[in-house]
Amino acid sequence: MGKKKGKQPYRKAPGLVPKGLLDKKAECPDCNTTFDIPWLEELDHPLQPIAVRNEGHFVPVSFPLRCPNFDCNNSFNYTIPNLENLSPWALYGDEASRDIQNPKANYTTKRLHFFCITLVGLHKDRAEKFLSDFEDLKREARPDVDPKEWAHHFTKIWSAGADDKEYSFSSKAQKIDYAKKIASLIRKNRYHIVTLNFSSCIVLPENEKERKKLIRRQKQEIFQQSIISSVLQFRLRQVSTYWIFDNVKDTSSGEKTEGWAEECFLGLQYTRLFAWLTAGATATKPTFVRPGSHHLLEVADFVSYCVARDFERTATGHKPEFPSKLMGNGFYQGAWNFGHSWYGWSKGLPMMKYYNLS
Ligand SMILES: [Zn+2]
Repeated sequence: MGKKKGKQPYRKAPGLVPKGLLDKKAECPDCNTTFDIPWLEELDHPLQPIAVRNEGHFVPVSFPLRCPNFDCNNSFNYTIPNLENLSPWALYGDEASRDIQNPKANYTTKRLHFFCITLVGLHKDRAEKFLSDFEDLKREARPDVDPKEWAHHFTKIWSAGADDKEYSFSSKAQKIDYAKKIASLIRKNRYHIVTLNFSSCIVLPENEKERKKLIRRQKQEIFQQSIISSVLQFRLRQVSTYWIFDNVKDTSSGEKTEGWAEECFLGLQYTRLFAWLTAGATATKPTFVRPGSHHLLEVADFVSYCVARDFERTATGHKPEFPSKLMGNGFYQGAWNFGHSWYGWSKGLPMMKYYNLS
């Protein structure tokens, strides 16, 4: 938590070193001792790769290591394999949460809290077509308003009452049908649109203060995991990323964030892990913008809603009305009560594998 390092506060990085990196060893060039790389050890300075071009390539970057052999104690630099800098993808993020007070009895008797963040990226070749299709859908919800003029928040549409005048839907069945159309639009654009969903479900304590503390920790961990894991997934495809988050907390200026999200990110920069993951790409910190100010934020809002509802319905013994599998193949990461993180690509949230739920 917010320890000071220089002027900038930061937060500890989560225990999320990818398996391939855990197995990597460093070798001391002087005495040839091999040892594990302390990926999450805090360093004195952030290790941002230096984006200097040298004949079209980025200059390789490295991080400092010290040989653990007492007789040697040599300091040397470990060179990070570099990414060719391909055009970076923007990832748009939004969150959803559910306080589940009465889960089905054969699952647990405890009160649960589900939280997820979804990141959405779209390849530029499909950007215009997707936008116009999405706006056509928005027109179904509000035929009289220019789709560019209003922010699409699925929770508002879903919870609008029967006498609501804002949206054109008069029954639950119509809303379900509408949700399925959005899910189908996402599914049809797979391979151009990428969605990454990061979730966790925690058991809530009785004490209210403890409960708030735990939920805060849950959100921080998911946020950091979403950054690390998305960098890794895109790095595997030789692509760098940057992030734009829907700033739900602030509706006024759209500039200011809660603060902790930025601190989480700054904390990551002090680790070798983050340096390795972002090598060759300039790591820019996430920006926080006005809710719904980009249509991919609206898509991220929908995906998060859909996954959170999928979980909530299943955990309370109901069938989800528009299950997450309708959106086709996406990246899902999930953890039960701060335990082991599962991740992979699948059609919908792998409820059984990640949460032992069916
Ligand atoms: Zn040595």
